[in-house]
Amino acid sequence: MGQTYALLLHGGAGVLAARSYDPERMHMRELAEAGKAMLESGKTALDVVTEIVRRLEASGLYVAGKGASPNQAGRYELDAAIMDGATQKAGAVAALTGFVSPVHAARAVMEKTRHVMLAGRGAERFAGLQELERVESVNDYYTPAAAPDTRDIATGTVGCVALDVSGRIAAATSTGGTLNKLEGRVGDSPILGAGCWADGHVAVSCTGQGEFFLRKATAKDVSARMAYGGQGLAEAAQGAIADIGTMGGEGGLIAVDARGNLAQPFNSPGMKRAAVYPDGRITVEVD
Ligand code: ASP
Repeated sequence: MGQTYALLLHGGAGVLAARSYDPERMHMRELAEAGKAMLESGKTALDVVTEIVRRLEASGLYVAGKGASPNQAGRYELDAAIMDGATQKAGAVAALTGFVSPVHAARAVMEKTRHVMLAGRGAERFAGLQELERVESVNDYYTPAAAPDTRDIATGTVGCVALDVSGRIAAATSTGGTLNKLEGRVGDSPILGAGCWADGHVAVSCTGQGEFFLRKATAKDVSARMAYGGQGLAEAAQGAIADIGTMGGEGGLIAVDARGNLAQPFNSPGMKRAAVYPDGRITVEVD
């Protein structure tokens, strides 16, 4: 029997009934196929989630990277986090401006500093020193994927979780944040344990109304339900989202455990997502 691998990616909670998501569906299928090929070729979960999230950011189809929306001050402040389950090493950036791939900046924080998170001007300076690709012209680069007046919450944070053939799991999340956010607002996406988490049990990436995910430490909650509560992945993931719901919050998450089980619960109107199951099957869904 070959070694197990599995992957889930998301393009954000929430879909609008009036709009076609064919471009996102096609793009997510392409990425799921690319992720599958990378995992089959023996790439690490950490490298795969980095690359898939980088491509989600670069597409302009989601509220992350190129598709991010400006905050109320007209500035693009982006958040991202990455975490390796095997080592629990992690990196994150918050309110980063001026760089094409926030997830690459997060990965650099993890690998090149003794810190876990850098924010604002310090994050920008650090990313510059790492010679990460800059956004040349803000006006030409960003193509906001969601109009600020459609909803108060963003509908396009991106994320990826993966299990590689060596049994390692990893998670990454990247976002432009909620639409109409205040300058300096940081959501759950770059906060380890809230919007992104990976340990020996499970890797999780969340999307939705970040304030609720922050208050419930949702990503870590999934792990805690498994580790301390003895729950299986499906029950743990569903329970964490139900908990958000009881507070009035909306969103979803993707999660993979160390055995290759996948969970993708949400209580929002849809969640853009694609899965690669251990038998190689790929599914793409938006509602
Ligand atoms: N959770 C993200 C945030 O609050 C938004 C989203 O998932 O769409 O920044």
